[in-house]
This record gives sequence, C-alpha cells and structure tokens, in this order.
Amino acid sequence: MDEALLSELIEYIERNDVASVGLGYYGELTLTPGWWRMANSLADRGVQLTCTTNCALPWSNEEVSAFARFTDINISVDTHDADVLKRVRKKLDIKTVVYNHQALRAHCLEAGISGPRVVWSGVLTHYVAPTLVGFVHFAAANAVSTVHFNEVGLYEGAPEHGIALIEITDDSDFVVAAEQVEQAFTVATKLGIALTVAGIERIRARRAAIVEGRWFSLDMALRSSPVAAVMTHNEGNSVPSGYTRACYLPWSSFYFDPKGQVFACCTRGDVMGTARTRRELESVIGNEAYRELRRSLATGVNLDPACATCTIAPLVRVSDFMPAPIRIISRRPWLRRTVKPIATRLGAMWLLGWWRKRKAALASN
Ligand code: SF4
Repeated sequence: MDEALLSELIEYIERNDVASVGLGYYGELTLTPGWWRMANSLADRGVQLTCTTNCALPWSNEEVSAFARFTDINISVDTHDADVLKRVRKKLDIKTVVYNHQALRAHCLEAGISGPRVVWSGVLTHYVAPTLVGFVHFAAANAVSTVHFNEVGLYEGAPEHGIALIEITDDSDFVVAAEQVEQAFTVATKLGIALTVAGIERIRARRAAIVEGRWFSLDMALRSSPVAAVMTHNEGNSVPSGYTRACYLPWSSFYFDPKGQVFACCTRGDVMGTARTRRELESVIGNEAYRELRRSLATGVNLDPACATCTIAPLVRVSDFMPAPIRIISRRPWLRRTVKPIATRLGAMWLLGWWRKRKAALASN
C-alpha cells in the first residue's frame, strides 16, 4: 500500500475513532518491508491490532516487538508434522513457526506484558486428520489455547482438488478420519484447548449416515471471495423465511486492499467501491451497494447471495437480529445519515418482535 493511501487511511481511523484494525489476511503482512513501522504507529494511537500471518520467515527483533503490541495473532499452521506441513504449505517450516512463536512469548515475558492472544489456525484436509491429536498436544506444549480449522474452499486453478476431509471418497477411510477429528476434540477438552472445526456438523452428519446405512449427499455452493470464486460445502442456500445472517460487519467494519478496493467482509467478493482518500472511503461506505447489503441483512428479504451462502455468520431470526445494528448506527453519525430509513424500519420490526414475544409469554402464564 502506498504512503499516500496509508496516511489517508490513518486519518480516517483517527477521525472515526476506529477501535480495531486487522493487518494482512489474504496477503502476508510480513512480506511488506517495514510493516512494523505502520503497526507501531497505529498502536501508538491506541488502535487494537489483529493479524493473520503464515510465519514463513523468521521474525526480526523489530517484528517481534511490534507483534507483541497486537491484541490477536492468527498463525496459519495445519500440523506439527514437518513432512505433512510441507505437503500442504510448501513454504512453511514448523521450526520457523515455533521459533517465531517462542520469540514472541520470550519478548512478552521480558517486557512484563501479557502479549497477544495467539490462535493456531489451519485448513482441514485429509492429509492433516491423522496428525490432529498430536497437533493439539503440540499446541498445548507451546501454550496455545485456541486452535481452529477452516474447511477447504475449492477455487479454479487450485493445485489439488478433493482434499477436504468431507470429500474422502471411501466411506471407511472417511469414518477413520472423522474419528480422528472427534479424538482431537476429546484431547482438546482434556488439555483446556478451545478447538473449533468449521463444517464439523457436516462431518458428523456423514459419519452418522454411514454408520446407520443411510444415503448422504452434499451440495456445494459457488461463492465469491476477495481473491477468487470458490466452491464450498454449506447449507447456505436454505435460509428459511424470517431468518437472516447474524452479521454486523457491513455496519461495523470494512476490508480494504492495497488497490483501494473496499469489501464488506473477508469472504464476500463484491467490490463495494474504490477509494483513494478518506472522503471517498466515507462515500463508499454510505453508497447504494452498502445500503442494499445492509437492507438485505437487516430484513432477510432477498438476502444477498453471498450472505445467503455465508460460512461464517450463523442464521438468526430477523426479529432477534435487530438491536445490535441499531446500537452501532447510533454511535456513528455518518451511518445514521446513510441508513436512517433502514434504522427506522429495524426499530419498528424489533418492537413488533418484542411485542409478539411478550404477548406469547403473557399468554403462556
Ligand atoms: S458474506 Fe457473511 S460475513 Fe460477509 S457480509 Fe454477508 S453474512 Fe456477513
């Protein structure tokens, strides 16, 4: 990102009291020369910093001390097994991951600070399933208390297809892999590690179907993303009437790439607009595309296709979803101006939902 764009962004952050900034995500933060200067400058302004990094390169002292000022760091690592890790992430060496992680912990100890929350986050392929139990132990040995696995997203041009655990073709091989996941949950509970696995409900459903001799089939949905169209397994196409996604991101956050493209979240690929200045950014956030996205989420009517198939935000009744956007809007004057008509409707619908619930409660007493 060039200096001019960066200083406009920093001005936007200051003017709007932005509380939290995530650095990197699709691109690797540590490949940007001198990235720690920008991070330090934001931290000096009291901004909370988060990031995702793949730990491919050993961190310098400057990088370690900048990372120590983050609140959350997501380290992309799928397994502790060096050979399997090379298989799934060619440029990643577990020794570098552990070195960086321990250098950060040592720095925080020396500085007498608690340092960032660190999550180890991987992608659940059939390659890593046999190493899951060991990986959870390895995470515990490194004082990592949260481990998360995403599902594989298939994109055109991906070097390999069919590697998602759920896609193992042989039923008995699949059951073995599904059991390895369950064993990892058991070990995680014993060790006090918060383990989450995206798509675990599908893994359990297929395993149960195989054990009970039932037919099991999976739909895949084509989704956009900020980098490529991907196919994912999900139940997103079946959003029942009266439901929406419990997602406040279009009210509370935006994602910005070095070209100035603005995205509503990390998974939806539609570009909401392009901005090179603070004023352009404010105008994008209040534009028609954003208003329509907020309207669709707030009402659940004609839900945005990407939100309908979202793998991040859970389903929620429209009437239960209302209050949070209203609180967010009330704190941001520019949002109040741009979405006032929606806010009014949200308020009316929430009141109606509350009144119906109250009436039902009174009737049952
Ligand atoms: S795609 Fe998902 S995360 Fe993105 S705005 Fe829609 S519901 Fe929110």
